[in-house]
Amino acid sequence: MGKYVGITGNKTAILLVLSVMSVLVLSVLWQGSTAVVSHFEKGHIVMLDPGHGGYDPGAITNQGVYEKAINLQIAQKVKEMLGPSGIEVFLTREEDIDYVPDGVKGKTTKKQIDLNRRIDMAREVNADVFVSLHVNATATGLQSGAETFYHYQSESGKGLAELIQQELIKIPGMNRRITKPGDFYIIKNTSMPAIIVEVGYLSSVKEQKKLQQSWYQEQLARAIAKGIANYFIQP
Ligand SMILES: [Zn+2]
Repeated sequence: MGKYVGITGNKTAILLVLSVMSVLVLSVLWQGSTAVVSHFEKGHIVMLDPGHGGYDPGAITNQGVYEKAINLQIAQKVKEMLGPSGIEVFLTREEDIDYVPDGVKGKTTKKQIDLNRRIDMAREVNADVFVSLHVNATATGLQSGAETFYHYQSESGKGLAELIQQELIKIPGMNRRITKPGDFYIIKNTSMPAIIVEVGYLSSVKEQKKLQQSWYQEQLARAIAKGIANYFIQP
């Protein structure tokens, strides 16, 4: 305590202003250096999957924020950003829908039918990679940060997940999480390298607000787009 007694009033305010300014400068620099501009001669195809939709909201907050809406907003931004690069991008859904026919009962059956349709769509367009977008949530609300999952038997899936994770952790203030192996239905049953990006935690009070804001969604989308572009640049 004694050491800081001298910093009072105005000095504290100046320090605060300076630190806010440096964060702003850093975030501008970060944005400027990661524009996705590479142009690809050879056709590369990406299937982006905004998780959930329709009957299935995904995670929900007490304030009524739905994961499915955030997933779609970010997917649309990734598509826009990759557009000029020459990479062809498809979305498994462009609006708030699911792929479960009327009358189908049972939580697991409905989920599986919905996911199977998305997996088929990726195969039908000959996608080179499949990227499923989600927002995480936990009961404790203590975790935050973006993370990526690949199927534990897929080396190329691991490579793609790592390239995206590398970009995600560059976002100012982002918790430095790592890429993890998993055995989730969607990444297990796709015929091309497939990953899940959990862009953050809706259960985190701090992150929940940012996740709904366009500027933050753009940072996430830019990181995902850059990671995908880097995957195709690899020899
Ligand atoms: Zn989800």
